[in-house]
Amino acid sequence: MAINRKSSFREDSIGGLIRRCAERVIPAHLHGSLIWISGTDSDHGKRSWHYANLSYQGSRGAALDLAAPKTEQGRRAMQAAARELLKYGRFLVELIHSTRFSDDNGFYIKEGKPVPAGFYDEPGAHLTHIHIAMTEAQCHAMLRALGEKPPAPAPGGSGGLPGFSTTWPLPRGHYFGLLSGPAESHGGNTPDERAWVKEIQKQLIRAGFVPGVTDPDGGWADGVFEKATADAVTRFQKAHLPGTKFFGQVWADDFAELFRL
Ligand SMILES: [Zn+2]
Repeated sequence: MAINRKSSFREDSIGGLIRRCAERVIPAHLHGSLIWISGTDSDHGKRSWHYANLSYQGSRGAALDLAAPKTEQGRRAMQAAARELLKYGRFLVELIHSTRFSDDNGFYIKEGKPVPAGFYDEPGAHLTHIHIAMTEAQCHAMLRALGEKPPAPAPGGSGGLPGFSTTWPLPRGHYFGLLSGPAESHGGNTPDERAWVKEIQKQLIRAGFVPGVTDPDGGWADGVFEKATADAVTRFQKAHLPGTKFFGQVWADDFAELFRL
């Protein structure tokens, strides 16, 4: 079952991913009561995730509005849908929905975290619909969390690096991390290690996780894993592997994900 779309509804590819995420977690019995009313279409004010031109943590996002008929059943369907979406709040850049029911406190997320109604000046415009904004990276992370296989890399994309094998090079229990870390932390002590760290740094630049740095060969990637590299790794993990236990460290799963980008 899928949720119907209003005839004026338009979306870009990220909107399509958001819809897929939402329809995976909203129970099918509610789908018939709900309707996608707006994506990139319509006026959403001066600055809005709806225009699909904003980014969060290096990944571009979009927003969709989900509504229901103005009946008790319709309002309850929106409330139930918002409840499910709230459970996945860590993957959302924005969730906004207010109700007049006494058995909820509204549904508000900003950048993966719950915020009070006042943050969005609610209850207000969002009594009539649920606003959902997500970045492309959040969509992929959520679909992975839901057990979906990652999409095949786009042809001609950055999937493979010439002359560089992306096979995990370290023994079990070892990782790429701070040079000052324990023996298991490989941060550039040997020429071999420095070559690996350098490739990780270059990929972090290419993927947009090093603010202010755009040229992978511009010198920032020096093969030495220090705090700035750990911070970039953390930004990447928050966008792509938000459930990770070891922020700032590159383990085999982080490595595979980073070089899949
Ligand atoms: Zn909206």
